[in-house]
Amino acid sequence: MREEIAISNNMTKKILNVIFAALALSPLLCFAQCTADAETSSPSARYELSVKADESENSISVDMTVTVKNTFADNLDSLVFAFYPDAFTLKTPLPVDPAFTDAAYPYGLNAGSYSFLQAGGRDVKRVSLCETPCRIEAFLSSPLGYGQSTEIVFSYDLTLPVCATRYGCNDFSVNLTWFYPVLCRYKDGEFAFEEYCPTGDPFAFDCAEYGLSLDCPQDWQVLCSAPQTEKDGTVRKYRSEHLRDLAIFMSPEAQITTLSGDGYTVNVMHDGSRAYAAKYALDALTIFSSAFGDLPSDEYSLVFTPFMTAGAEFSNAAMISSSLPFSETEKTVAHETAHQWWYYAVGSDQVSAPWQDEALAQWSTLLYFEKRDMRGYADALRKGMNDALTDYLSTQSALGEDGLCDVSRKITDYRDATDYYVTVYCKAALAADICAKSVTTNEFCRALAVYAKRYALSFATDEEMFAALDESGKGTGRLFRAALFAAKYR
Ligand SMILES: [Zn+2]
Repeated sequence: MREEIAISNNMTKKILNVIFAALALSPLLCFAQCTADAETSSPSARYELSVKADESENSISVDMTVTVKNTFADNLDSLVFAFYPDAFTLKTPLPVDPAFTDAAYPYGLNAGSYSFLQAGGRDVKRVSLCETPCRIEAFLSSPLGYGQSTEIVFSYDLTLPVCATRYGCNDFSVNLTWFYPVLCRYKDGEFAFEEYCPTGDPFAFDCAEYGLSLDCPQDWQVLCSAPQTEKDGTVRKYRSEHLRDLAIFMSPEAQITTLSGDGYTVNVMHDGSRAYAAKYALDALTIFSSAFGDLPSDEYSLVFTPFMTAGAEFSNAAMISSSLPFSETEKTVAHETAHQWWYYAVGSDQVSAPWQDEALAQWSTLLYFEKRDMRGYADALRKGMNDALTDYLSTQSALGEDGLCDVSRKITDYRDATDYYVTVYCKAALAADICAKSVTTNEFCRALAVYAKRYALSFATDEEMFAALDESGKGTGRLFRAALFAAKYR
């Protein structure tokens, strides 16, 4: 039997105590005080983080208390968390698809590391720290009854990998995303832990309440997915009652461009060359709000930083590659901004059904250009998707492959990045487009608005999405499903 200890990939074994009981916890609000009628919609987890960033930029200290209320089952014997910094330690296969290794590690392969100083709580008898990669399980001393709450405390140090991925630091910014133990979703009678997958976005989590106290050099620029509430010297505080993830971006030398209008404020972190992108983001927020309904938050951040692919979405924020050519920037901003509806506001299972949010983000990008009177550009994007899909199908068929581009696969079942791209970003998006053309763009938007409202800050399976789209009586969900699973798309 292994001891329940924390692990540092640099093999220093600088680990310390897992605290099993009697931790002195800071006072927190009691979830039990929540009213009964708020119970179903209130988050099941509240994270209070204290993060300290060292001047050296790649060393981070984190103290976190997560309060978990059992809204899941009669009794819980343990709580399961995902801890993705473990994927960047190079103990296991690289956290990026082989096709992106050079882009992800432009400074050469290097490992991040972590070391836990504390992991436990007053109701915790032991904690398993990443014995299974990226998985933390806190075993409770007695079952947590339905409606009861408990607190788990984690204190740990991170040494960030130097890379151009979601998590890590580079020569422009420190990118802290998925850097803390995240409570897994509870479904089908258990916590649904998902190991980090190098393809796509292996994140499927519920919204939660977040509080952050961030201590970093006073002259650093910072953007966070939670709104800032206070700044006192080197300490800045942030809070949100409903984030699907907490993301922090810090840079010693960035510029921040801010643009407001139509009820939204956009902040762009960049090197001085991307101020123009704020207008794209604001236009996208305006167009998508008109089509799908307002977002839960009125502040949105874009961070232009070295990044291995075009972009990535977070709650109230997106990373965009700073090496994108001008011609690619607007569509990437539109796509990532659409994820504020189809990822952040409406959660979906990005592991089991990665097409669900990506197809809608892609289709929303087409809508953006049509609303901007750039129909020719939208048609060029359609053609690009169709050509990529057709080429892939014909070359793979010629090689004797079958069962191609099946959207019902889990993210781990795609054969490579190309398979994933043409299936999720092209085939599924074209299916949405076929559906929109069948019922009209306006009707498709109306159906998506129903879906967005029904599952705001919640989570929808693909079948729940089809059912919501069908509510208008136009058969929109049925048509979308038929197009997704049809043998041919053009
Ligand atoms: Zn996307």
